Amino acid sequence: MVLSSRWTWDALILALFLGAALLTGACWIHPPLGLTPGMWDEPLILKPGETIPVPDPKLFTSLDRLLVTTVKVKPGDHLWSLAKSYGTTWDSIRSTNKLDSVTLSPGQKITIHNHKGMIYRVGTGHSKSLQDVARLFRQDPTVLAMINGLPGVSLLSGEFKSGEAVFIPNSLLKFPDYILPVGWGPFSSKFGVRFHPLLKYRRLHAGVDMPRPYGTPVRASREGRVIEAGWNGHYGQLVIIKHLDGVTTWYGHLSKIRVSSGAWIKQRQVIGQVGSTGLSTGPHLHFEVRGRSGRPLNPRKYLQ
Ligand SMILES: [Zn+2]
Repeated sequence: MVLSSRWTWDALILALFLGAALLTGACWIHPPLGLTPGMWDEPLILKPGETIPVPDPKLFTSLDRLLVTTVKVKPGDHLWSLAKSYGTTWDSIRSTNKLDSVTLSPGQKITIHNHKGMIYRVGTGHSKSLQDVARLFRQDPTVLAMINGLPGVSLLSGEFKSGEAVFIPNSLLKFPDYILPVGWGPFSSKFGVRFHPLLKYRRLHAGVDMPRPYGTPVRASREGRVIEAGWNGHYGQLVIIKHLDGVTTWYGHLSKIRVSSGAWIKQRQVIGQVGSTGLSTGPHLHFEVRGRSGRPLNPRKYLQ
């Protein structure tokens, strides 16, 4: 047999894939609107703990219908590269897998689908009708039924049981991007131009001050890499973390530094302790957020 055209190759790959899927009975491949009905009429439901064979990522980008699989992260994979190969977005992968961290570890298993959106799984011990799910995500139940390949009758009586999954197009989870580096409490000095209590002149206060007891743990507001950890003039003992988008966060006047330059730090990881080193009138954390160009931004706009 001579396989001469691109089309023949694609058809062969698809046939092999479907053959394997039928044999294992575990594959999850579903039609969107009106494609070859009958062949794809299985509902989009993943049982808890179900395993899915890994098909060729090319299918994910070339076929319009919804495809879902699990992949094992290889060294060098990151959310952006996987999103590109599988025809989705990095925040879709993050939402579907509820990933707090944007960094992946080799060997980690993640669920991937094509299209932007997320897979919603019904919580343990609960069941939800298709209408309930649609209401939860402010979606049209008819659209949900179609993209998930559910039979028309599911609009009237469809029910998802504990652990079952539904694809929600264009819906994404919102993750807290910046967290307060010290526990909740007052801000003693705002961002902006102020009269400096020690320098005795007006100048830009490039961050916010949070007075806290001496020794209070200071946590990374976001994950990123430490680019500075040590003494820096008025800042005293300072840690600067550079994040994946190029933004930096600064933690000043620390009494102790718990990280070293070059280390990759997870969000909420303790990086040091509150102190009063440098130009300071008492124990507090001076916290800054700086844009890619180094321009100070108002941290209150980022802190949740
Ligand atoms: Zn300050």
